[in-house]
Amino acid sequence: MIQTIITHKCSRCGSTNIVKNGHNKSGSQQYYCKDCHAHRVLEPKRKHTSDTKEKVLKVYKERASLRGLERVFHVSRTTILSWLRERAQQLPTLQETLLPVQGDDVLELDEMWSFVFKKDNKRWIWTAISRKTRQIVAFVIGDRSVKTCRRLWQRLPAEYRELHSFSDFWEAYKKVFPKETHRSVGKETGETAHMERWYNTLRQRLARFVRKTLSFSKSEVYHHIVLKWFITEYNLERRHALASLTT
Ligand SMILES: [Zn+2]
Repeated sequence: MIQTIITHKCSRCGSTNIVKNGHNKSGSQQYYCKDCHAHRVLEPKRKHTSDTKEKVLKVYKERASLRGLERVFHVSRTTILSWLRERAQQLPTLQETLLPVQGDDVLELDEMWSFVFKKDNKRWIWTAISRKTRQIVAFVIGDRSVKTCRRLWQRLPAEYRELHSFSDFWEAYKKVFPKETHRSVGKETGETAHMERWYNTLRQRLARFVRKTLSFSKSEVYHHIVLKWFITEYNLERRHALASLTT
């Protein structure tokens, strides 16, 4: 028989004169130190390394499910979601990812529905793409109303608002975008082709990702985080691709 005996010491004063003293909220054994009167957790949970964190977030973006990640990396879903929120806060603003506007550029506008948690809980993703750079200039998630369309307009950087824009015949655009520069067109004109193609990419790369995320998180916050993360990286990739073309 092999037995290992561990002697626990107080993490504050190093004394071995300690006794068990209940459990904390997350169920960890606590001790009480008779020498320095500390109440602490006996074996603090090991913190995950930043290496693990980067790996988990990377694999998550490759559409792994949270449950899968939890099993493989032994990181709780709660922790993964907190890393996601943290990562979202570190992302640059969309405007910071944009290339300077080019005077003869054109915006293509479109809206696509996605759902949060249940199919009848529809959320529309509205986007404006630059025809020249293919960057997403602004996006918004909401219903299909004029109000949401106005939020899209408000998120356009001022210099991009000057551009001509094309959208489908949805009424909201006509009420929000200036008559002088906006035109509603049918798909057959090809004027919104880039935007439509981008949505195809989004569906392929993000659909499963988003649905899996929502199947457990049931949260609109993560819907927004994941989309913003995707668009930010997409814009940075575009900027990188265009920069290497001109050098
Ligand atoms: Zn102590």
